[in-house]
Amino acid sequence: MQTKRWTIQPEKPDYQAIRDAAELLRSGRTVAFPTETVYGLGADATNKAAVSGIFEAKGRPEDNPLIVHVATKERLHGLVSALPPVAEKLLDTLTPGPLTVVLPSNGICAGNVTAGLSTIGVRIPEHPVARELLKACDIPVAAPSANISGKPSPTTADHVWEDLHGKIAGLVDGGPTGVGVESTVVDCTQDIPIVLRPGGITKEQLEATVGSVMVDPALANTTENPKAPGMKYTHYAPEVPMWLVAGTPENIQAVIDTERGPQKRIGVMASTETADKLKADRVIPLGSNLREIAAELYDALRIFKNGDVDLIVCETFPQTDIGQAIMNRLEKAAASYVDNE
Ligand code: AMP
Ligand code: MG
Repeated sequence: MQTKRWTIQPEKPDYQAIRDAAELLRSGRTVAFPTETVYGLGADATNKAAVSGIFEAKGRPEDNPLIVHVATKERLHGLVSALPPVAEKLLDTLTPGPLTVVLPSNGICAGNVTAGLSTIGVRIPEHPVARELLKACDIPVAAPSANISGKPSPTTADHVWEDLHGKIAGLVDGGPTGVGVESTVVDCTQDIPIVLRPGGITKEQLEATVGSVMVDPALANTTENPKAPGMKYTHYAPEVPMWLVAGTPENIQAVIDTERGPQKRIGVMASTETADKLKADRVIPLGSNLREIAAELYDALRIFKNGDVDLIVCETFPQTDIGQAIMNRLEKAAASYVDNE
């Protein structure tokens, strides 16, 4: 399959490109596009065959439901059988933005979108390109991250191209995404909302909006079955094994020095401050605060290739603000955790 690629400036979208991409989506094809979190691979959520195209291109397990993207709350209403006040409050306060609400489905979307569940995950993205595309096609668009399943999510159009060119009909290149980690998934079918996946909207923001919020126990405990089916799969894996190392820069350097040798090259990912203090074969500074680190994370995980380094050592980060999402992704990407504190 030929993949058509359009390059557009997010601040002044090229409407012809948006219309062409929207037309492909309306005709049942798959199109990748930028959102404020990561690039999504979209298809018409009401068309079962179109949705199958997403699972095929990504190699995604079919029991992992997709998030449906819409432009407005009115459109979201059209996909659910109830919108509890708590969900309405979250939507009014925190969206458009990196938040997915899980609600009872009204069955309008194809059964493979929700992997047979009675609930549906819906989100209203903020990225101008995503918004214009959703308005132009005027259909609910199922869109998981536009990567091969198991690999780090794509934060640039080149990441999408590397994974999926030839397997999808279109790619709208709107430059790098902003947040860099996926949306926060919140189950709003109970009285108290439950965070199923940490993401771009923090627990603190949710609590400030609706008061009490619970967290799916499976997020802290690997033996528990997660309520977001996708959370049980290996994810975000770099090509080379990665160790998460807790401790001071000196502690991290000690691990690097023990492992490093002529046959074992070490790559490092750390905050800019820590990176400045470390010596290894390749050191990637991720940024000087948690927001910057989130934005750089997936690109860094993709930079280390086989033959380049043999082991990645990555610093751990505080579990505050977007640090919860960063650590959730790193723990899934890592081969092991070294507590060197
Ligand atoms: P991705 O599309 O790759 O960002 O992954 C979507 C995440 O949302 C996965 O972890 C899914 O399991 C989760 N998700 C989507 N729909 C639902 C739903 N109806 N109930 C629970 N989790 C969901
Ligand atoms: Mg994904």
